[in-house]
Amino acid sequence: MKGVRCKCGFSTVAQRNLCPRCGKQMTATDWPDRGKVLSFTRLGAMPERLDSPYNLVLVSVEKGPKIVCWSDIDLKQNDEVNIIPRNGKCFCRPTNGPMKERNLRRL
Ligand SMILES: [Zn+2]
Repeated sequence: MKGVRCKCGFSTVAQRNLCPRCGKQMTATDWPDRGKVLSFTRLGAMPERLDSPYNLVLVSVEKGPKIVCWSDIDLKQNDEVNIIPRNGKCFCRPTNGPMKERNLRRL
């Protein structure tokens, strides 16, 4: 998963030249496609092209940024997940859970 980081500690999966926190040049970084669930939200209203139930998950990448991912699987805090970037969004699923191929194919 591509992203950038700054010497000040700011990191993100977005592509930025300058750090939004301190204004310095940022360094391109390859973050691991894994993280831990920080929080989990089940959405009531679905965005276009996503089928319910879909969940928003805040994932902390090891030594990296916190990113918002989508998931069709119920997760809980501290669950280990794989992060799958797709069409400009990030999806996640448990590292040891079943993969729902039918949902990924539809994206
Ligand atoms: Zn910075």
